[in-house]
This record gives sequence, structure tokens and C-alpha cells, in this order.
Amino acid sequence: MKPEQASEHLQELTTHCIRCGFCLESCPTFVETGNELSSPRGRIYLVRSATEGKLKWEDIRPSLDSCLGCRACETACPSGVQYGQILEFARERISKDHPDKAKEALLGSTTSPSMLRTQLGLGRLLPGKRIPAALSKLLSGEVSEVDRPVPQSEVRLPDLDSSSLPAVKGEVYLLEGCAMRVLFPRVHQATRRLLRRAGYTVHEVNQGCCGSMHAHSGYLDAARQMAEALIHAMPGDLPIVVNSAGCGSTIKEYGHLLPNSEAATAFGARVVDASEFLHRNGFVTELRKSNGLSTKVTYHDACHLSHGQRITAQPRELLAAIPGIELVPLAESDMCCGSAGIYNVLQPKMARSLLERKYANIAATEAAIVATGNPGCHAWIAQAAREHGRKVSVLHTMELLEAAFTGIAPFED
Ligand code: SF4
Ligand code: SF4
Repeated sequence: MKPEQASEHLQELTTHCIRCGFCLESCPTFVETGNELSSPRGRIYLVRSATEGKLKWEDIRPSLDSCLGCRACETACPSGVQYGQILEFARERISKDHPDKAKEALLGSTTSPSMLRTQLGLGRLLPGKRIPAALSKLLSGEVSEVDRPVPQSEVRLPDLDSSSLPAVKGEVYLLEGCAMRVLFPRVHQATRRLLRRAGYTVHEVNQGCCGSMHAHSGYLDAARQMAEALIHAMPGDLPIVVNSAGCGSTIKEYGHLLPNSEAATAFGARVVDASEFLHRNGFVTELRKSNGLSTKVTYHDACHLSHGQRITAQPRELLAAIPGIELVPLAESDMCCGSAGIYNVLQPKMARSLLERKYANIAATEAAIVATGNPGCHAWIAQAAREHGRKVSVLHTMELLEAAFTGIAPFED
């Protein structure tokens, strides 16, 4: 999209806001601050003013930087405002005029599996050091309160019993992602096993980053290149199963990222969240026949699953089907935990405040396990769980579903 087209598109997107304010109480940064400039309505007004030349783009940057990109405002909006697109196009506009080298370097390191592995390896060499905080300090020259958990050891699961498996009825692709494959390879292991239990095998391909974090940060040209490479890597019409909410949300919307590409829209239509896929394939019935787990579980809605993809019922129905599980509701379950991609590194105070709020709600359920569907939320909430004495374990929904069959629930190291 040419710059003038992007600007017109951005202005048009903002015209759908009727300033009703219905979104305000759903917005975590407004709830925390009470400040209109930290609300969706305020941010849209600022963007519209900048597109009209009434405000300078760099002057509205702090308000946009403080936005989580959680899209809770979209779910709440009666007018159908596409806030996620507004944010991405506005961030792109700002970053083109005023590049942020520290942010670019951080994006590069968190979306490269080899660089992530290097950072985690460094973490092992420097016990007690907070590696992402050190990285953030290196990049920006500022001290960050943020850290992330060290990687957890892989769980050794027994081989699948072929006599109990259904005949193979199809193939799918599995998106490996960047953070997921490095931080939580056990989630891919669980997902592959569940897919096989549902009668599907994974068609293996070399694949790179989907561009999700770049898109959310407004680096749309980089995200487009990554999208095109991923489309090329997964030809044909096989479903593309994704177990990372942020990636799934972005890929489903490749048509927005590449508006002149029919291939991008068609590719997005093939994407299905892992919980959505299993649910669609009758897996609730399979889970009811599983060995089960005797434990109390609650569920945190990852923003890009609940707000980005509007998937809330399927994971809950799958979890509730496990014999012996008591699934208890979580207050503010669809409020962002503060992780939000690289937000917790760039905006540590707000991220920390939202994490403590999330953890307090989780603790109030007295659940032994909190399940979720995104690696960012998983790592961030697990950090709070460690700091608060490991009274609750954080698991990806896929891990818990697989544990229903094996009886082996992987806990934090
Ligand atoms: S974004 Fe939607 S809910 Fe929020 S003020 Fe605008 S129209 Fe109302
Ligand atoms: S994306 Fe989230 S933080 Fe940003 S304005 Fe919307 S609700 Fe608020």
C-alpha cells in the first residue's frame, strides 16, 4: 500500500468511531489510569487529528506506545471499529518518520529462534541475571523491571499406543512460531499428539516467523515480507493449525496486511486455532473417554484468541470435558495480563501492574492450574506464579488436554 493510500485508509478507519465510550471499561490501560488519552476513544481521536494535520505524529506516540494492542475495545465496540488496524497503521506512520532502533532490535531478537536461544543460553551462563531486562538495558540504555522465565525442561512422554489411535484421515500444517518453538517445545509435542489422536498427522515444512510481532508494532513492510514467505512455505489447501494466539490472529488477517493479494486472504482462511480445530473435529467426545485428571483448573483468555479471533467457548468446552477436572471461572479472564508481545519490556510499569492484577484474580480461584493459549501470556503469568511461591502452575491448553490421556501434567521447573 502506498503511503497516501495508507493515510486515507487510516483516516477512513477512524471515522467509524462515534465516541460513545462503550469501550472504555474494557480497556486495561484506561481501567488502570482513568485517563482518556489511555483509552481507545482517546487514542482514535488523536490518530484522526494527526491524519488531519491537527497534531504531530510524534506528539501522539506516547499514547499509542502505552496501548497493549489487546483489542478488547474491538469486542466491546458496537460500531465495529477496527482498532487493531488503526493501531498498526498509525504505528507504521510514526515509525517511518521516527525509527526506533531499540524496538527494531528487540523485535529482531524475539522473532528469531536462534537469537532467542542465544539469550536463553546466556541466561543459563549468568544465573540470577534477568536476561531480557539486561537485553532491554543494552538496547535502550534504561533499566527494565521485566524478566522472563528460563526455559523449562521437556517432558518425556511415552510413545503413543498405535492400537488405540484412529485411522489417519488427513494432514495439516502446524505453525511452529518463534517464541513457542524455543520457550515451549513441549506445547508443540502435545499438539502433535492431540492431532494424531484426532486422526491427523503434521505435514512438516521449513518455516519462518509469521510477522505477528512486527505487524502489531507497526513494522508492516517487514511483516508483509514474512507473510509472503510463510504463504510460500505452506502451499496447497491443508489446514494450518496454530497454537499461539498472537500468530493465529495475525495470519487469519493476512488479507488486511496484503490487501491486494487473494493468496493472502485464502491463506488466512485456512488458519485454525488448535482448540478450534480439535473442537470442530469432535474432540470433546474423545476427551470424555480419556483417563482424566483430578484437579482444579481455571482459564485465562489470551487477548488474540478471545478478542482477535473471538474464540472463548472451544477451549473451555474441551477442558470441561476432561473427566475429574473442576473448571472454575476466572474474574476478568479476558483482560490482558500485560505481556502483549514486547510490551512488557517496553512498558514495564503498566505490564507489571496488569500482571499483578491477573495473578490476584487467578489466586482467588484457588485453582492448581491456569490454562491459556499463547506463549507470551504463558511465560508472563508463569513468572508471577514463581514469584508468588508456585501455588499455581501455568499450562497451555494443549498440554492439559494431552495430560488427560497420559496422566502426565508438565509443571514448571
Ligand atoms: S471505539 Fe467504538 S466503543 Fe469506543 S468510543 Fe469509538 S465507537 Fe464507541
Ligand atoms: S487495544 Fe487494548 S489497551 Fe489498546 S485501546 Fe484497545 S483495549 Fe485499550
